[in-house]
Amino acid sequence: MLRSNFTRFALLALVFISLCALKPVRLLKPYRVETTYLQLPHPQSPNWGFFAHKRINRLAVLTLPPQMMVFFKPNIDFLTDHAVDPDMRRYSTKNEAPRHYIDLDNYGAPPFADLPRQWLDAMLEHTDIWVVNTPGDTVLLFGGKKPVKEVWQREYKNWFSKQLLPRFYQNEETLDVDSLGVLLAEMGFKDKPQSAFFQEHLSQHGILPWNLQRMQRQLTEAFRMRDSRRILKLAGDMGHYIGDAHVPLHTTSNYNGQKTEQHGIHGFWESRIPELFADESYDYFVGKPTYIERTEDWFWQTVFDSNSMVDSVLTLEKKMRRSFPLDHQMCPDMRAGVLSVMPCRDFADAYQVAMNGMVERRMRAAIHDVSSAWYTAWVDAGEPDLSKMDEPVMTEEERKEEERLRKNFEQGKILGRAEEH
Ligand SMILES: [Zn+2]
Ligand SMILES: [Zn+2]
Repeated sequence: MLRSNFTRFALLALVFISLCALKPVRLLKPYRVETTYLQLPHPQSPNWGFFAHKRINRLAVLTLPPQMMVFFKPNIDFLTDHAVDPDMRRYSTKNEAPRHYIDLDNYGAPPFADLPRQWLDAMLEHTDIWVVNTPGDTVLLFGGKKPVKEVWQREYKNWFSKQLLPRFYQNEETLDVDSLGVLLAEMGFKDKPQSAFFQEHLSQHGILPWNLQRMQRQLTEAFRMRDSRRILKLAGDMGHYIGDAHVPLHTTSNYNGQKTEQHGIHGFWESRIPELFADESYDYFVGKPTYIERTEDWFWQTVFDSNSMVDSVLTLEKKMRRSFPLDHQMCPDMRAGVLSVMPCRDFADAYQVAMNGMVERRMRAAIHDVSSAWYTAWVDAGEPDLSKMDEPVMTEEERKEEERLRKNFEQGKILGRAEEH
């Protein structure tokens, strides 16, 4: 026992000494060393998820009106613990990652006039449909971004939402050729193609605000049905995605500073800073939730607001890197027996002051917006009585799914964009 403790200590000391020896290299490219040499095992790895997401969901519950509190308060631990489920799902399905971000720079510059705000319009515009006549003869029927002939538009839109969208959700890319019949005939196709498939181009740049629109409708429906299990699951998940929508780096393709030599800035902003300061100095009093008239526009506004801060997030950090004493930028950090290198406390503090408390402001806005989304869904559902709800029981299928999520998470390979939380 004593011996193994000693060995562990010796090993740690060795790592620490090597770290100090590495200092000059580390200071040149501080983040790269952090991520390549000393990345934490992922369950402890910091992200907005594991600290801030839980905090946001928990505090959102506490702002709710009594008619909602009667149901939400007894389930506050569930909503807190499950605030990180969407991040865990990233280890199980490649479709999960795009729900956490949107690369707005892919769609030009503010006010992003050409960016379709409605999900169906966006999918129509960014999906290619192909038909296979014979092997080797594959024809692009409708190309993304190319407007479909006006006369077919209504029919095409109809077909798209009935045939294509459900397949998208089921992760299925082949299409039913027969369902394309009328459109094909109108386009002059004489012979029936052998098969058809589609490729959508939205997911690769993230679908965060569109996904929120859909979830808002689902949560409203769950309130209407007074389905306690579904309300909790959707409310918990939505809290997560709304939290992500408040992080500036979730709205840009330069999400981890990889295009500006600021690799690692994602975790610095959304994890390190809240972990260091949120509990000791942030003011969480955000007041009562607000009823949102047009949730669709509001989700978009949230990501546009976040996006307007990207420039400050990046330039201020760069400036700090230049002006702050080099040996006070990265510090060894020990947690759960693992030694790592993190931005130092003083450095993190100076950065958040330079940003005029942006992390705190975004966290407060997230808390208020999460409770406002929940509250709006409840009002839109006709303010159902939540005082006598059924006990939220997990089905056998859900239990299995949860087990699967946990297993994949523990094995630890993110599917899709990895540094994006
Ligand atoms: Zn993140
Ligand atoms: Zn996330």
